[in-house]
Amino acid sequence: MPRYDFRCRSCGATFELRRPMAQANDPAVCPQGHEDTVKLLSTVAVTGAAAASRPTPAAGGGGGGGCCGGGCCG
Ligand SMILES: [Zn+2]
Repeated sequence: MPRYDFRCRSCGATFELRRPMAQANDPAVCPQGHEDTVKLLSTVAVTGAAAASRPTPAAGGGGGGGCCGGGCCG
């Protein structure tokens, strides 16, 4: 389950919550009970997933014949 960081604009505290992605944009309540919070950009979960799904350009690079191996020529 992804982790989301929040910051309370009332007391300035930062806290994190684990919640389903479907509830990522739901309002979060500060541990101190404040409701004026903002969601901070998560770095670990988001960037990790994006990098993993992205094909590595190092496989091609104009070595000659590498393109057909990927099936993009057929
Ligand atoms: Zn607070």
